[in-house]
Amino acid sequence: MKEIILLKDGEIALKGLNRYAFEDTMIKNAKHRLSSLGRFRFYKAQSTIYIEPMENGIDMEEAVNRLKKVFGIAAICRACVAEKSWDDICRLAPAYLKDTLEDASTFKVTAKRSDKKFPLDSPKICAELGGLLLEKFPHLRVDVKKPDVIVTVEIRDYAAYIHAGQIPGPGGMPVGSSGRAMLLLSGGIDSPVAGYRMAKRGLELSAVHFVSPPYTSGRAKLKVIQLAHLMTPYCGKIKLHIVTLTKIQEQMRDCCPEDLFTVLLRRVMMEAAEHISKEDSCLALITGESLAQVASQTVFAIACTDAAVQLPVLRPLIGMDKEEIIRTARNIGTFETSILPYEDCCTVFTPKHPKTKPSLQMVLDAEKLLPNREELLREALDSAEIVEVSMAGAKGYIE
Ligand code: ATP
Ligand code: MG
Repeated sequence: MKEIILLKDGEIALKGLNRYAFEDTMIKNAKHRLSSLGRFRFYKAQSTIYIEPMENGIDMEEAVNRLKKVFGIAAICRACVAEKSWDDICRLAPAYLKDTLEDASTFKVTAKRSDKKFPLDSPKICAELGGLLLEKFPHLRVDVKKPDVIVTVEIRDYAAYIHAGQIPGPGGMPVGSSGRAMLLLSGGIDSPVAGYRMAKRGLELSAVHFVSPPYTSGRAKLKVIQLAHLMTPYCGKIKLHIVTLTKIQEQMRDCCPEDLFTVLLRRVMMEAAEHISKEDSCLALITGESLAQVASQTVFAIACTDAAVQLPVLRPLIGMDKEEIIRTARNIGTFETSILPYEDCCTVFTPKHPKTKPSLQMVLDAEKLLPNREELLREALDSAEIVEVSMAGAKGYIE
């Protein structure tokens, strides 16, 4: 029995003339996510994307699971391909849907006939196939209002397709269709969620993670590489830059007022991220900040942070409660890794009483106390490590 996957796009359909470019980006992403499962042929027709397996033994369930994470897809449908003959449809439908119908109590049949030359019209297809299925599965009842299973027959240009209804896709916009942005990825709960949310709006991600060895350890770094890896089924490949801030942080500790450490550090991070953004063609920065969650996330502190850079700073979690963020982190599978108790460079030299209402002037004055901030920043950027993280892993770390 030949199977196929049909994809419907959602919001993309609203994009008018750009629609084809959006669809092509979505197809490119879907191809990439399925590539390790085997060979597939992709084609578009009648506002549907067809994904046809080109070899035997492909794990179609896993293919569907992966497609559930490809942004831009509104609905996914795994279907059986039949010839456009009534006999073939009647032969294949009971066999293909056997397990599903045996588990159900009620069903209905719907039909879509875009090929009007097909001899039976839609009501006739529903009535005839409904009757046949009732005969083969006598425990079933028809329920047109709220059936357990909706058996669908689609008569299209090249073939007929039989399936048990469509499942929702992740929605959003295809990754890459909005350009590229730089995610400041910490080991915490928030920033992976922030990256996920912006990828869902079509941004491809680069990421930067700041470390401060020996105050932060190798396993803290590995944890962040793992987090990036967990994001790849949604976001695609992530180029992760790892930048060491030890010297700058030590200098801050030695020269600056303690209550400003956090905001000073956050400004260094933003500046470093902006520098790398230019190399990676990133159009914006993304952080996991949420208003008032901690001292560095007051509007006062955010104003000081933003003043360090020119690129727009996207903060998709700014209005979300921790509970909501955690829910998403659990859903996308990053939560368990995020809560591993390793150090972060933000917690190195943490002030006992961070200033919650810093003014920009105050912060700029404190920055002047750092004798060679620019030089140290340059050095940190020049010695950054780059890790290419993909669904397959990250060379040297996750094989
Ligand atoms: P998270 O859960 O993402 O760590 P948080 O609530 O712990 O967030 P902060 O530590 O104040 O908040 O960090 C705010 C944001 O700054 C993070 O969401 C992230 O975008 C960025 N950030 C913090 N630490 C780092 C780091 N070590 N490397 C890269 N970005 C960082
Ligand atoms: Mg953090």
